[in-house]
Amino acid sequence: MKLKNIRLLSILLLLLLMLSCNNNKAGKKTKKSSDPTPTNVSIQVPEFNADSAYFFIEKQISFGPRVPESEAHSNCAEWIKENLQRFCSHVSLQEFKARAYNNQILNGKNIIAVFNPNKQPRYLLCAHWDSRPYADHDPDPANHQKPIDGANDGASGTGVLMEVARQLSLNSPSAGVDIVLFDIEDYGPPQDRQAYESTDFWGLGSQFWSRNPHTTHYSANFGILLDMVGAPDAQFPLEGFSMYYAPDIGKKVWEIAGRLGYGDRFVFDNGGYITADHYFINRIARIPTINIIHLDQSSSNGSFFEHWHTINDNMDHIDTNTLKMVGDVVLNVVFKGL
Ligand SMILES: [Zn+2]
Repeated sequence: MKLKNIRLLSILLLLLLMLSCNNNKAGKKTKKSSDPTPTNVSIQVPEFNADSAYFFIEKQISFGPRVPESEAHSNCAEWIKENLQRFCSHVSLQEFKARAYNNQILNGKNIIAVFNPNKQPRYLLCAHWDSRPYADHDPDPANHQKPIDGANDGASGTGVLMEVARQLSLNSPSAGVDIVLFDIEDYGPPQDRQAYESTDFWGLGSQFWSRNPHTTHYSANFGILLDMVGAPDAQFPLEGFSMYYAPDIGKKVWEIAGRLGYGDRFVFDNGGYITADHYFINRIARIPTINIIHLDQSSSNGSFFEHWHTINDNMDHIDTNTLKMVGDVVLNVVFKGL
């Protein structure tokens, strides 16, 4: 009996011990799941400041049209470079010569800022900073030979990326980022000559860079080009060459935009094929690159925004709401990856 009782007591004690062990385990588990661990820490994405981007656009416009070989062009290049140097310790100017459609030799300057030079993955962010010498789509033919401000066509993408650079100087991402601002994108032949001129007369700065990147054997996981990203109510459908060369990148970036609440602007529609800098980066440098570009099939100006290549592409038609959406999408991609 006694023995039996002792054995029973032992069994009871063992059971209690097991239960308490299990309780401890359960307790530890519960505690562990509420602890911050690397897997459940949410990555903080800095807030894109659209007013700051607006200022960077306004400042570019203040130099006058940034037409290659003009004083405004060289002054603006200097200003962009000096400002990027405030945000980044690896800024370089890539000078080159290019032959235009009219055989003129133009002096170009691609402006390059490299963040986290030794880190992988690497993301390429780009825009063009020059402005078109001809308002050849202006409703008034008297303006066709005049240069444009290019507030949207050129300065908007550059302004957004300068603000991205400022944010990267304040909050370093885990990835490497290369910001490349191309020159001589918009010196293509005027409208009345375009029928018989090659598309290769556009994007002269990106063609040079794609053949001569700023570091040997340069590569990036993917690229994003910003092109006309400042007009009010801009719509960004999926551009054709982006979806031909980099369909997964396009889809994922548009999904991020949707999650940020910008699905009504970043629409999953087919936007048509646009020969811009990303076309040459894809074809020559073979870096899968998409173009976030405002396209509007109902526009009177081809599929481009209303004031494209007119003297009205000025600060009156730049909207901080659009800049904010595009900047948020870019910063989310840079900080969280795809
Ligand atoms: Zn243009």
